[in-house]
Amino acid sequence: MRPTWLEVDLGRLGENYRTLARRLAPKTRVIGVVKANAYGHGAVPVAKRLLELGAARLAVATAGEGAELRAAGIEAPIHLLGSLHPDEAEDALKADLIPTLTTLEAARALAALRPGARVHVKVDTGMGRVGVPPGALAGFVAELESLGLFVEGIFTHFAVADEDLAFTRAQLGRFLAAVRPLKKRYLLHAANSAAVLAGIGTDLDFVRPGIALYGLPPDQSLESELLPILSWKAKATMVKTLPAGHGVGYGLTWKARGGEILATLPFGYADGFPRALSNRGYVRLEGAYLPVVGRVSMDQTTVRLKTPPPPEAVFEAVTADLDPKTSLTGRARALGTINYELATLLAPRLPRRHIT
Ligand SMILES: *Cc1c(COP(=O)(O)O)cnc(C)c1O
Repeated sequence: MRPTWLEVDLGRLGENYRTLARRLAPKTRVIGVVKANAYGHGAVPVAKRLLELGAARLAVATAGEGAELRAAGIEAPIHLLGSLHPDEAEDALKADLIPTLTTLEAARALAALRPGARVHVKVDTGMGRVGVPPGALAGFVAELESLGLFVEGIFTHFAVADEDLAFTRAQLGRFLAAVRPLKKRYLLHAANSAAVLAGIGTDLDFVRPGIALYGLPPDQSLESELLPILSWKAKATMVKTLPAGHGVGYGLTWKARGGEILATLPFGYADGFPRALSNRGYVRLEGAYLPVVGRVSMDQTTVRLKTPPPPEAVFEAVTADLDPKTSLTGRARALGTINYELATLLAPRLPRRHIT
């Protein structure tokens, strides 16, 4: 058993799910976003629990991610969120995913493989990344239908739902204006986590929360009603003191004054513990902050303690809270990034234990 692991609390996933579900109109259902290995939390157990909690569908970013869910026996509808590239059409169909279409090239590739394939169309209402311009929506949908594709739904994505609610409401307005003239009724969805929390787009057919399910605030706030569900634990592989002047780690960037208690932990940047935490990050042990000394290396990290650790001490490299020094969100702020990135950097090689 590797002496470092992630613990994911699926009970708390349920609490976050209900926190979001309370904000939805009665008819509005949840597409649980589990791309990037459920934001590092382990896609299959998280997806299964989301479906038990009442999520109607799931969403991934790559056909491979969808295939992993299918291989685990998941039968719910699964959306493929990005704009489909023709190269991915075959794998998307093999995994029985619902691709997102924004180009005719992808639509033709898909229709050639399976004429009746179910798809959703994405409209660009302000994000500027992928999506059909609102004015071109009706024509695009008509073209797809003439190719024989089954256009089941239409959606958009918010660019600043965590910081500019007026712009987000304007995006929703453009979306609704774009679909209003269409002759048929399509399933509509727009809201990501931040929009659900703000109550924008929570009365369409679906919402698409990701980060908030994992208890991570989309606005990077350290005060939130959400409950982080992931902690990262480790046991020390060696505890020791070093004589004065002895260096630690590559580059010998930290030098002992003599007698400091050091613990070496069996994880590094290849596990998703950022190298930028060298000589500046912290790990927690029973409420105490232990500073990282020396450089974080690929597979090992050394920390300094004030008192010898109890035998079998379990150190926390990530705490399941909003601690400014050791939580994903607090650390992201300290490093000038976002909790989304630190969560998705958690490496596949870290064992994941899901507790209920
Ligand atoms: C990732 C993603 C989401 C989920 O976003 P969160 O901010 O994690 O809630 C929703 N919709 C689309 C299209 C996405 O790519």
